[in-house]
This record gives sequence, structure tokens and C-alpha cells, in this order.
Amino acid sequence: MAGSSLPEGPRGRILVADDEPHIRRVLVTLLEASAYEVDAVCDGSAAIDRLRSERPYDIVLLDVMMPGATGLEVLGLLRRMDHRSDTPVVILTAKGQDADRTTALELGASDFVTKPFSPKKLLARIEELLHP
Ligand SMILES: [Mg+2]
Repeated sequence: MAGSSLPEGPRGRILVADDEPHIRRVLVTLLEASAYEVDAVCDGSAAIDRLRSERPYDIVLLDVMMPGATGLEVLGLLRRMDHRSDTPVVILTAKGQDADRTTALELGASDFVTKPFSPKKLLARIEELLHP
């Protein structure tokens, strides 16, 4: 592919918050393979700490069910932070949690992905949000 051998920096920085080590591993592997820089945290409190910092994030992926604070609580706080108010947020949740979906969209989620997710589809959604 043309240009594929050119050296490139990270294509963006992504915060991933999920309490399941397996999901974090899948997401980190997937995103790093696509040249994103990833910060992965295992609970809602750590996600809030990262978001309150000045560290820039181009997109945030939040699991709903996490200790510390739920992904929806984190989303609500994030949308009230001046420096994060426009950051795209993708909510990850378990199958059948339709109430979560409604709440997530009301709180300003950019997208919503049901677990188990197709890595390819998730990546496509992230790409759409980052490079519309
Ligand atoms: Mg969880």
C-alpha cells in the first residue's frame, strides 16, 4: 500500500476504562496495532483521575459496569469538564442493557457498543469518530 512504509507517530491517544482484564487486553492490542497510543485503566475512579488531568485524549472508551464509578457516571462527569466536553465517548456494555443505551445517549455518548463486540466494527466506529 502506498505510504505504508513511512514512519508515523501515534494517530491519536485513547483512554480505555474496563474492569475486565481480557477486554482491556483486546482493546489495547487492537488499538496499538492501529497506531493509537492507549492508556488503559481498570475502574471508574482511575478513569475520572485521568480525565481530570490535562493529558489529551482524542477518544474515550468506557465500560458501563466498573467498580469505583460506572461508565455512565464517568460520562456524566466528563461532559461537565470544560476540556473534555467535545471528546468523543464510546460506551461499552453487556448485551441487553437497553436502558444503559438510552442513558448513555442522553448523557452525550457518541456511540454505543455491545459486548461481545467485533474488534473490526469497533475499530471502524472509532475511525469514523476520529476522522469523520
Ligand atoms: Mg465491566
